[in-house]
Amino acid sequence: MAYLQLNKIEKYFGAHRAIKGIDLTIEKGEFVVFVGPSGCGKSTLLRLIAGLETIDGGNLRLDGRDITALPSSRRDLAMVFQSYALYPHMTVFENMSFALKLAGVDRAIIRQKVGKAAEILDLGKYLDRTPKELSGGQRQRVAIGRAIVRDPKVFLFDEPLSNLDAALRVQTRIEIAKLHRELGATSIYVTHDQVEAMTMADRVVVLRDGQIEQHGAPLDLYDRP
Ligand code: ADP
Ligand code: ADP
Repeated sequence: MAYLQLNKIEKYFGAHRAIKGIDLTIEKGEFVVFVGPSGCGKSTLLRLIAGLETIDGGNLRLDGRDITALPSSRRDLAMVFQSYALYPHMTVFENMSFALKLAGVDRAIIRQKVGKAAEILDLGKYLDRTPKELSGGQRQRVAIGRAIVRDPKVFLFDEPLSNLDAALRVQTRIEIAKLHRELGATSIYVTHDQVEAMTMADRVVVLRDGQIEQHGAPLDLYDRP
């Protein structure tokens, strides 16, 4: 059964039709990667799903519910940004707990959720540090931790590795894929990097000029002559 369903999704920036009637169904547990050249609409499509941009046409359903018009905070989704989106003056604990605190979650529950996420991400010893006292890889794990504590139905990754060096990119890529499986998560991951797409995805969605050009398992797509 469809877990996340995009029906004829449209997005205009002024007169520019950036997303052109996209239909897509994502199953629970899938790791789906959006790939394609710069400007094809990957990031816009992810932001429409996240509720960070308004949808101009079509509708979006998650777990049986129409979420097209819901604000981001009520969609049960969490976005993982590049690690520089961390709050620089807050500790790791404060970075990971901030959204829960704003949402009025009980302090004991916050401590429990952040503690568990820190353990999964191997950040237990760094909870009192600020981002600048961490390595690039640790910072990226904090950014992931901020999403994990929200218990989202879907994780949305927006080019999370693009400011890491090559070696760290490979390592973090493997960690994200492993985490996805351990958490039994459903994930959508945006990248312009075909290697990332091939190695991480259950399914690759190739976008071109605001439309889906093709989609399928990595081997089916890239083995084609
Ligand atoms: P990608 O993530 O694949 O590089 P984007 O989703 O960022 O592509 O952009 C898709 C198209 O929409 C591009 O033509 C881009 O210039 C345009 N676009 C994206 N965001 C905005 C915006 N805030 N205002 C105007 N045009 C935008
Ligand atoms: P809250 O989550 O309590 O509404 P925040 O300041 O954390 O407050 O977020 C402001 C807005 O951005 C909200 O609509 C929130 O849902 C959204 N938001 C914050 N963090 C994320 C995230 N990791 N993924 C998706 N949306 C987020």
